Amino acid sequence: MNTIAQAVSCIEGYDPDALRVDKACEAIRACLTPVAGAERVPVREALGRVLAQEIVPQIDVPGHDNSAMDGWAVRSKDVSFDKEIQLNEIGKALAGKPFHRPVGVGECVRIMTGAVMPAGADTVVVQEVCRAHGINVTVPPGQRAGQNVRAAGEDLKAGSAVLKPGQWLRAAELGLIASLGISEVSVKRRLRVAFFCTGDELASIGAPLQEGEIYDSNRYTLHGMLAALGVQAFDMGVVRDDPVLLESAFIKASASADAIITTGGVSVGEADFVKQLMAKLGEVLFWKIAMRPGRPMAFGRIGDAILFGLPGNPVAVMVTFYQFVREALQFMSGRVGFANPLLSATSAQSIRKVPGRTEYQRGVVFRDRNGWKVRTTGQQGSGVLRSMSEANCFIVLEHERGAVQAGEPVQVQLFEGLL
Ligand code: AMP
Ligand code: MG
Repeated sequence: MNTIAQAVSCIEGYDPDALRVDKACEAIRACLTPVAGAERVPVREALGRVLAQEIVPQIDVPGHDNSAMDGWAVRSKDVSFDKEIQLNEIGKALAGKPFHRPVGVGECVRIMTGAVMPAGADTVVVQEVCRAHGINVTVPPGQRAGQNVRAAGEDLKAGSAVLKPGQWLRAAELGLIASLGISEVSVKRRLRVAFFCTGDELASIGAPLQEGEIYDSNRYTLHGMLAALGVQAFDMGVVRDDPVLLESAFIKASASADAIITTGGVSVGEADFVKQLMAKLGEVLFWKIAMRPGRPMAFGRIGDAILFGLPGNPVAVMVTFYQFVREALQFMSGRVGFANPLLSATSAQSIRKVPGRTEYQRGVVFRDRNGWKVRTTGQQGSGVLRSMSEANCFIVLEHERGAVQAGEPVQVQLFEGLL
């Protein structure tokens, strides 16, 4: 195993005391490996998991040419683009109830959506344009050969891989796997993530606050953020700034977890023991990241577990989680091809910003008659967790960027997508 120091040393522009966000991402990525284990699960339980196998269809989907509309199945040679014609209906084809006789010259078959195309027929004329009297069907001009027919295998073709290992399984993939008749799939084992918060000032919910205490909220945001990633999360509670307790928490976490997340105790000049302990127990780098919020952060390895030592402030925890930890955990889970798109919106206001750091302001994207705009949620302190709750996006102000004028485009990262 390479040391963390070796892995990050080759990154151009790596500077632990003024680390750019993109360089921090690169440094983290250089130190990660995806989990190896896999297990077989029923399709439903595969939701949110990472596929560990290739899915190669054994069948075509759909399995037969079939009708896309309710109407009459006809031979394209019989119908005409220029004139009305008369056909004789020889039977009915329904979804799941095929009609077995071939369609001959001058004949047609009443057909419903999803029904297999009878032999000889290659075109469907929709019922709305035809006139039927008993078995006599009048088809108007204007029909095109092959219209309203869904070809066998147009969705999935037997023999050609449709999903690859590393695919994140969402609703569409579950349906797609089910459409092939597959009942079980192999998925990567869930990533194990242990987390705890450090700080003598932290009280746990349910207990009354003593003087100078605050309720620990970070464990709850972490619980929520980890749940959305589908990892197996172990909440190890609050750990006092006490070397003995901290040491045993780190040792316990690293014994079984793939990743450890802590909050607090990594800021400069802090009297916390966390930093010393992290450094003592493993190989841990302490970064000052050129970003706001979330400047101090520790990253490294304790035992076999990757460590993310996040700052203590509640907004900084969320920002560093979303900008660094989320992607890292996805990668470790074996996922490939994940992207967090940056979209462009017009700033509805001026925003103060100095070049030399990336800022993640909490914003609200909204639409007015001129298009998509974004405003900030107001107070942007790293302790103002309300700013995350009121926001629907991060306004990402790039490293080099200075102040933003109202009307300028800015990049936004939406909190919620459809999937
Ligand atoms: P630290 O990085 O340990 O100096 O923490 C910075 C600040 O973040 C502290 O002064 C607390 O106000 C706050 N903080 C730290 N941990 C938590 C937590 N678990 N929940 C809520 N706020 C916290
Ligand atoms: Mg602290």
